[in-house]
Amino acid sequence: MPNKPEKLLIPGPVEVSQAVLQAMGSQVRPHYGDEWTAFYKETQGILKKVFNTEGEVYIIPGSGTLAIDACLGSALSTGEKIIVGANGFFGDRLVWIAEGNGLQVVKVEAEWGKPILVDDVEKAFAQNPDAKALAVVHLETSTTVQNPIEKLGQIANKHSALFMVDAVSSLGGVPFAMDEWGIDLCASASQKCLGAPPGLAPCAVGKKGWEAIDRNPKKAHGWYADLKIWRKYQTEWGDWHPSPVTMPTNNIYALRASLDELLKEGIPSRLERYRKLALQLRTGLRKVGMPPFTPDDQLSPVLTAGVAPEGVSSLRIVDYLQKEYRLKISSGLGVLKEKIFRVGHMSPVTTEADIDIVIEALGKFQGLQK
Ligand code: PLP
Repeated sequence: MPNKPEKLLIPGPVEVSQAVLQAMGSQVRPHYGDEWTAFYKETQGILKKVFNTEGEVYIIPGSGTLAIDACLGSALSTGEKIIVGANGFFGDRLVWIAEGNGLQVVKVEAEWGKPILVDDVEKAFAQNPDAKALAVVHLETSTTVQNPIEKLGQIANKHSALFMVDAVSSLGGVPFAMDEWGIDLCASASQKCLGAPPGLAPCAVGKKGWEAIDRNPKKAHGWYADLKIWRKYQTEWGDWHPSPVTMPTNNIYALRASLDELLKEGIPSRLERYRKLALQLRTGLRKVGMPPFTPDDQLSPVLTAGVAPEGVSSLRIVDYLQKEYRLKISSGLGVLKEKIFRVGHMSPVTTEADIDIVIEALGKFQGLQK
């Protein structure tokens, strides 16, 4: 069936709804003027609800990595110390981004597939009382493991350190409470649980985040992703041109279409719908003999990994689903590349029927091995 479009069930970018496609394909409109400023402000307001924060949200054109760069680069100065949790590909990336911003990194590692241990972070703070910040990935997309954000936030707070979270693959699909969990700076991306095309990097900043940003004017980390510049335009030019650069307005109209759908469904209902897809998939994986990679208490509502059968590379499974079923799932990354496969169910348009087909396809693959 060469003309049948591939069904995307990867951990982002995700398939988007018809309303989002329509917004993306509409005539280009400017990023200034009354109509735009009202629309943009409302969209920021909706994102604040999704982050669950009273802080500010900026929608920076770029990918999720830019949002991480913006958070770390704006709040910390070259040479300052940061503790970074690293238990997967994106934790390692976070270390790299911190180093790229000239920060001195203390790495707290956990095995890929296991969460960062709260005690290990506590020890790192005890050994590094001069650490200014803690940064971790919420949902480690490479392994599907969620880190204990709430508890880590308490530790950062206890040590008067800033807490920065990479919520690129979780925001909008996994329960999230930025202020309640003591998160000061948070980075996300449009192309995952937020259900829009790639291209936008939402960044949220709380009160303590601003204090860090304002405490030292000389960060020497560039201009475009400096959150202070974004705040300056919002406050000084907010009534006609609320951003320092030309905005990809179609992307923002598309994101808004997705956010409107999220609000219509209701955030708790959306999260519950995803969780049920995860449960359905986990049951199916066990049935076909490729059990979930993480235990049930580490269920991720938006992304599930299965373990490839002994002696079988997960790359073959990914390939089989693509060729025979036009289903696109992902292999593992790094050390888990050929050991696990990952199925994303973080798109608002993913259905129970899609999960059924994945399970059917995996069952067929298993049958062929006998
Ligand atoms: N952090 C996490 C947890 C991710 O899953 C990803 C992408 O998959 C990134 C960061 C990088 O995001 P982007 O590719 O949008 O820059």
